Amino acid sequence: MSTTRRGVPAPTVPATGAAETHDPAHAADDDHDHQVVPSDLALRTKSLESLLVEKGLVDSAGLDAVIDAYEHKVGPRYGARVVARAWVDPAYKQRLLADGRAALAELGYGGTQGDDTLVVENTAQVHNLVVCTLCSCYPWAVLGLPPVWYKSMAYRSRAVIDPRGVLREFGLVLPDEVEVRVWDSTAELRYLVLPERPAGSEHLTEEALAALVTRDAMVGIAKVALPQSGARL
Ligand code: FE
Repeated sequence: MSTTRRGVPAPTVPATGAAETHDPAHAADDDHDHQVVPSDLALRTKSLESLLVEKGLVDSAGLDAVIDAYEHKVGPRYGARVVARAWVDPAYKQRLLADGRAALAELGYGGTQGDDTLVVENTAQVHNLVVCTLCSCYPWAVLGLPPVWYKSMAYRSRAVIDPRGVLREFGLVLPDEVEVRVWDSTAELRYLVLPERPAGSEHLTEEALAALVTRDAMVGIAKVALPQSGARL
């Protein structure tokens, strides 16, 4: 939706569950977009935020700054840089696995959500998968905002019961001999997966490697892959 968080929602296409206001008298000039009523969840969120702002408990500009930072600056890019550094610098990788918090801080990452981060390494023998069965604890400091599926009841419950099945549904089929380890996050301890460096990436620079690393790979539902053969970095 093309809207600013503070502004009136911009004209857009109807979202699932949203009611479109449509005046038949406008049928003649129907090539313009229509205003849609935000979803129930969006309205509830907006109402709650308005109340908190009205009572002086939160500051709108401050909220915007925080959300903007996690959406556009942190995203998963900080995590990707951490992974790329670990791939090219064995000593850094050792420090990262030994003390995630300190190693993240070396690159300037961390803060309240990165205080206790355990980095778990994927290998040819072991695949790690991260979940928060209780709610949605996530290494925000390096991955930004968690995806919707991460917070869903289906993922939270099934990731621990049938991790291989969940991975298969995400398109990742692991050989039987690969051990799958599931890490249940808490508010005190977050997990970051250090994916395997893809074969054939030896010639890539640290920056180019970072560009390959996805959020999904750092949660453990995917592997890092090279671009389709023929594409050059
Ligand atoms: Fe949680």
